[in-house]
Amino acid sequence: MTDVGKVFPNGNVAVNNINIDISAGEFISFVGPSGCGKSTIFKMISGLIDNTKGNIEILGSDMNDTGQKRTDVGFVFQDATLLPWRSVLDNVMLPLEFQKMSKQEKKQEALRALELVGLEDYTKSLPRQLSGGMRMRVSIARALVAKPKLLLMDEPFGALDEITRQSLQTELLRIWEKQKMTVLFITHNVFEAVYLSTRIAVMTPSPGKIASTVDVPLAFP
Ligand code: ADP
Ligand code: ADP
Repeated sequence: MTDVGKVFPNGNVAVNNINIDISAGEFISFVGPSGCGKSTIFKMISGLIDNTKGNIEILGSDMNDTGQKRTDVGFVFQDATLLPWRSVLDNVMLPLEFQKMSKQEKKQEALRALELVGLEDYTKSLPRQLSGGMRMRVSIARALVAKPKLLLMDEPFGALDEITRQSLQTELLRIWEKQKMTVLFITHNVFEAVYLSTRIAVMTPSPGKIASTVDVPLAFP
């Protein structure tokens, strides 16, 4: 990101002059006070909203002149937004909807993603039949199903209890190692950032800027 800024239509300056270079394979956490623009940065990277200033380059190409960003980038939100009337398997298959693959291949890919998060036995369940931790696993599987090179996670574990959070943190690190992805992670929890990340970006209060980034020695064995 080079001099990236976002002004919303109502005049709110969400972020100003975001400059950061993130390498392939990093696990970087963004920490900073509420409202400093962390979610806005992630929405711009995922293409959900446009930046109003500067340039964002992802995986070697400028965001403005590529339509390929949607499948290369996986996104996980805090409130695991699953479609309640669809089974676990069908929810995970959603990102593959427009890919040139047979239905059978799509099912296999969804099953592979569910295996990564240990939910292969719950393909036919509906989201409301699962615990909060399991629903978060399903949304992680959905984010991973199209094999993204970049995974964006916006406070994914914020709503979970401590025990569940710890087991998902460990799982996420395993998946990150196995899939060789770049992970961008938002958290309020500095301990979580230190445990998970290879680097932490510390943001100033609104409108946010990246005050500094700190390298973290790998805690994962
Ligand atoms: P964070 O994720 O760090 O809590 P956000 O990115 O959600 O921060 O918000 C950054 C700033 O942008 C806040 O001041 C917020 O009020 C503002 N903002 C976010 N979304 C919108 C929007 N759709 N319209 C206007 N202002 C917004
Ligand atoms: P987590 O929140 O870490 O996913 P839970 O404590 O909610 O774990 O669930 C532990 C285990 O209990 C799950 O792995 C699953 O086997 C079982 N379980 C939880 N909720 C349900 C449910 N609604 N139906 C069937 N089994 C469940």
